[in-house]
Formats: sequence, C-alpha cells, structure tokens
Amino acid sequence: MHTMSDGTSDKIRPSDAELRARLTKEQYHVTQQAGTERAFTGQYWDCHDPGVYRCVVCGTELFSADTKFESGSGWPSFWAPLADDAVDTVTDTSHGMVRTEVRCASCSAHLGHLFPDGPAPTGARYCMNSASLDLAVDTGTKPDADTGPDAD
Ligand SMILES: [Zn+2]
Repeated sequence: MHTMSDGTSDKIRPSDAELRARLTKEQYHVTQQAGTERAFTGQYWDCHDPGVYRCVVCGTELFSADTKFESGSGWPSFWAPLADDAVDTVTDTSHGMVRTEVRCASCSAHLGHLFPDGPAPTGARYCMNSASLDLAVDTGTKPDADTGPDAD
C-alpha cells in the first residue's frame, strides 16, 4: 500500500485516528481510500428529501438536493455542486480508465466522479457516494442542536 503525501496539511482535516473512530468502515474506505460503494446500496441514491448534502468528514456543504437528479446509476447524482469551489476535481487514471475524481475542497475526502453526461443546464453528472455525504434535511424549521455526534 502506498501513501501519498501531497501537502494538504493546511486543509481542515481530522486525524486518521479520529476518522477511524468516527466514520463507519465504509465511510472511511470511500472518503480516505477512494473507495466506491456498491450501486443501489447507499443511503442516498433514492433519497428525495430536500436539504443540503455535507461532507461526512468535515461538514462542508457540498450539494443541494435541488440539483439532485435520477441518473439510474444507483449512486446519488447531482448536476452541479453547491458552489464551484466546494469541490476539487482531479484526473484519476486508476483501474485502467481516465476519469475525473471529485474531492471535498476543504478536506480532500474522496466523494466520487464527474462525468460529462448529465442533464441541463450544466451537462455535468457528479456521481457521488452516499458514504461521503451527510444530508442535513431541510424540514422548514430551524435546525436543532442535536445533530452532532459530540455527546462524548
Ligand atoms: Zn470535507
């Protein structure tokens, strides 16, 4: 196993030990080891709740449910990020393919891949892993303080 040291120490990135303790095995695998959850198994591919999808690692708001669409892929798909600078895109040549990897711009967590076959108005398809995302459901009321796993 090789470890990349790419000078991302200035990012808001929790320690590896903290992430292993806080994330599920799959969340850790996807976000930290660029894994991919199996299609149609994630929490959000068929989710239609309004709200904002945040990075499961650092909490940065990444995608709005308003830009989510039915891609048929089995992964939650969006045609645009919440803000252009919310995500980073990196050329990924793993698995013998040339793809565009999408990472959280704040903590470099792996989110999924970007494909050019999405719907209007952007034509982009951000194919994300549910395991990388944490939906803050918009219930129309003010968010409560009991949403964080900080009880300890
Ligand atoms: Zn993040």
